[in-house]
Amino acid sequence: MSLISLSNISKIYQMGKVAVPALDNISLTIEQGESVSIIGRSGSGKTTLLDIIGCLSLPTSGEYLLNGNAVSSFSEEALAKIRNQLIGFIFQTFHLLPRQTALMNVSLPLFYNDTPKSERMDRAREALRQVGLSDRENHMQSELSGGQQQRVAIARALVTHPKMILADEPTGNLDSKSGTEIIDLLLELNQSGSTLIIITHDAEVAKRAKRKVIIADGKIV
Ligand code: ADP
Ligand code: MG
Repeated sequence: MSLISLSNISKIYQMGKVAVPALDNISLTIEQGESVSIIGRSGSGKTTLLDIIGCLSLPTSGEYLLNGNAVSSFSEEALAKIRNQLIGFIFQTFHLLPRQTALMNVSLPLFYNDTPKSERMDRAREALRQVGLSDRENHMQSELSGGQQQRVAIARALVTHPKMILADEPTGNLDSKSGTEIIDLLLELNQSGSTLIIITHDAEVAKRAKRKVIIADGKIV
């Protein structure tokens, strides 16, 4: 059984009376442990697709099976649990809490699941160690470089031991050297078992994943 199976997925945003088509009949299967890049121009539907894969939004039509289960049949509560436990999200703009330390930011997802209090900080420390930031535990966002901020975000995505890591333009706000290091790190995590999906409009980034999916005008080409 595939981890992700999308069949004939379409998404139309309704803006008042105007229908904005974003995805047009997408079918895509991704197996546990794969590394996949999804590349396309701005506005081609990449973020919309990742939001659907990440159970952040539902398609207008089509079927999404996650581990063989129809996502459309899940309650809001079940979806929240899936997002917390199965999926690690990484965004272009990091989304860290600016007034919290790196360690607190990384531990946050563990407050929303049943992780015992005594384990949270140990798990957060371990995740920061995995991204090479053990010596920055007590730094605030403003005391970290862009690349380090993205590492903290990756540690936060990792701390729940997710089955898949979804990264939306993870190098978009980084210089090319930090960007390369972030992709190195994501590929390392993929080597140790996490399914990895990277959205990008950068051909150099895209070609580093094992498989490349090209999207244009909401369609796979
Ligand atoms: P990409 O990530 O490839 O830049 P998006 O998935 O963000 O593309 O957007 C695809 C299309 O859907 C674009 O035309 C965009 O304007 C539109 N769109 C995206 N999000 C929304 C939304 N929340 N409401 C209405 N239209 C949207
Ligand atoms: Mg986008």
